[in-house]
Amino acid sequence: MDEVAVDRLRATFGTDAVLYDAKLVDRPDDMAAAVADCEVFIVRNRTQVRGALLDACKSAKVIGRLGVGLDNIDVPACEARGMKVIPATGANALAVAEYVIGTAMLLRRASYQSTFDVAAGKWPRNQLSSGRETAGATLGLVGFGSIGQLTAQLARGVGMNIIAYDPALPDTHAAWKEVGATRVNFDELLAQADVVSLHVPLLDSTKNLFNAERIATMKPGGVLINTSRGGIVDDAALVAALKSGALGGAAIDVFTQEPLPASAVFSGCPNLILTPHIAGVTFEANVRVSSMIADAVIKALS
Ligand code: NAD
Repeated sequence: MDEVAVDRLRATFGTDAVLYDAKLVDRPDDMAAAVADCEVFIVRNRTQVRGALLDACKSAKVIGRLGVGLDNIDVPACEARGMKVIPATGANALAVAEYVIGTAMLLRRASYQSTFDVAAGKWPRNQLSSGRETAGATLGLVGFGSIGQLTAQLARGVGMNIIAYDPALPDTHAAWKEVGATRVNFDELLAQADVVSLHVPLLDSTKNLFNAERIATMKPGGVLINTSRGGIVDDAALVAALKSGALGGAAIDVFTQEPLPASAVFSGCPNLILTPHIAGVTFEANVRVSSMIADAVIKALS
């Protein structure tokens, strides 16, 4: 949590009333002991607020989430105990949207991983001269909520056409017109998008949504960007599609197991960007997320 927001909590509730320890998540026993008396428990995405840890939260009234995905929190169980779960809705959307546009451009161009070759005196100019521009390409957004809509706005700024699939958002919803996105079904999206970007929560209905069969129906040479959650894409099937040339590039920010253990799955894979769950984490987003949660906690307890 941003220190300024932590200080605001200390100023409001008293210095001794606030325990701030960014490493507590790595010491489960200490964490269980620390939460026993707390009225507010603020977590990022690695703390699993469920089962024994939730049972240990005997006095908690509020669970603050420094982010938006709630798959690490047993929300129904929290609510059944009278706890309010507060996510930082929208506060890191811009960071994710910029990540999507940035990686989409890098991956379509497929020409930027030449640093070591160029420094070593090789000159791979011919091999790297047929990258694709992003303007005029079609971006397909799976999930058209807070992040999907902001990504669409940025994408229009670089000249992309936008299509999106979100069955929960009726075609009368103002967002479609506001950002100039065309509402399509899932099969249409897979067939038409040059870049597919995922912005859905991890639910039973989204688990393994991008399995080998679905990946095979993506546009040849297409790019897949997953900043949503691990488990929504079958990473091994994605790597196979990249290696065979069926897909042109991919960026993966989220994994079924985080931190990702050393894995041979990704080795030797062309035009692949792997990042450690940082799409929504920038200096500015951390300030916004922390300040939003501090405000919400102060309001909830006042
Ligand atoms: P949101 O709730 O505003 O939007 C999610 C949208 O997905 C909703 O409109 C919903 O109707 C739609 N949806 C649900 N199931 C669907 C399905 N099967 N097919 C198509 N659409 C479906 O959430 P958001 O703020 O846009 O965030 C989306 C997800 O991004 C979060 O749940 C989180 O997992 C992830 N996220 C990741 C990072 C990161 O750092 N990598 C940061 C923020 C959020």
